[in-house]
Amino acid sequence: MVDLRGQYLRIKDEIDTAISQVLDSTYFIRGPVLSRFETALATYTKSEYAIGVANGTDALQIAYMALGIGPGDEIITPSFTFIATAEAAALLGATPIFADIDPVTFCLDPDSVEACITPRTRAIVPVHLFGQSADMDQILALGAKYNIPVIEDNAQAIGATYNGVPTGSMGTLATCSFFPSKNLGAYGDAGAVLTSDPELEARVRMITNHGGRHKYYNETIGLNSRLDALQAAILEVKLRHLESFTKLRRAAAARYDARLRNVDGIICPYEASWGRHVYHQYVIRVARRDALAESLKTSGIPYGIYYPVPLHQQPVFQEQTKGVILPETEKACAEVLALPMHTELTPAQQDRIVDTVIAHVNHAVHA
Ligand SMILES: *Cc1c(COP(=O)(O)O)cnc(C)c1O
Repeated sequence: MVDLRGQYLRIKDEIDTAISQVLDSTYFIRGPVLSRFETALATYTKSEYAIGVANGTDALQIAYMALGIGPGDEIITPSFTFIATAEAAALLGATPIFADIDPVTFCLDPDSVEACITPRTRAIVPVHLFGQSADMDQILALGAKYNIPVIEDNAQAIGATYNGVPTGSMGTLATCSFFPSKNLGAYGDAGAVLTSDPELEARVRMITNHGGRHKYYNETIGLNSRLDALQAAILEVKLRHLESFTKLRRAAAARYDARLRNVDGIICPYEASWGRHVYHQYVIRVARRDALAESLKTSGIPYGIYYPVPLHQQPVFQEQTKGVILPETEKACAEVLALPMHTELTPAQQDRIVDTVIAHVNHAVHA
């Protein structure tokens, strides 16, 4: 599904130099490399501030903490996302309320969000799923109408745009993950919080560092959640290559599109007119998905199912989601299949993948 080694070899010299500079400096926690990366990330995402944290899940928890979200509060998130979006809120004693998705983009459906708003709603958390922005104008309008902050979970979409602006720059806060397989991947765990509000920036920094602005003076309950210098050095190098990596992903997506677009029974990813899709995943829809997955497995073709079980049907959330039905989310969970997508994918590899997919579909039709 990914080729992290191939990508490393492309930029090995730069990465190795950056790592050895950190080792030489012995500045392992925070330090100048982290500050440089934070500045570069803020510039890239057109946010005033970027604060490095330990991972994308912590970034969400810290964003929720910075807004004071806790017991009795609700946040609205899609059910069709990675568990972290909801988990981080639940950990703080808040209740995730699950909204449905737009079946075309797989992102939050603004109409479904509005139906979930209550006097206890403290945040709306759109996820820019698979590398494409949610319909932010409508979501931000709801936030403004009900005076509820919007937090963008930008873990999968760094580099994506919406009406010309980068994802991560539109909400009150946004979060990034630099998990190794993400579009901007570290060589370990890493994440960031983005904001353009100076007060929130100060709060986020404090929370990441035991709730204190100054060492041994603690103002609030915080965490130890910092982006370490080695990862920051790696990310600083990789951020310089992100635009070219994004182009490689988009080129690979275009090659898949060209061959799969007109195949009966397959729905290719849709790039909404509002911005640039960065194809964290290339996700097709097929009615009998499990049969296709079986064929791919037999042929030795890797694939992924994101996500097989929606969050509102996960055992961990069963109690609070009794009776919740999200038709588009449930349908997507049954039909989606992600094909290999990364910067090292060659046309020959893609041809083999597509040949297998098409052979399966033709066989299924004639069987
Ligand atoms: C990866 C991911 C996260 C969590 O990031 P980690 O760095 O793995 O903690 C959160 N939300 C979404 C949508 C993700 O894809």
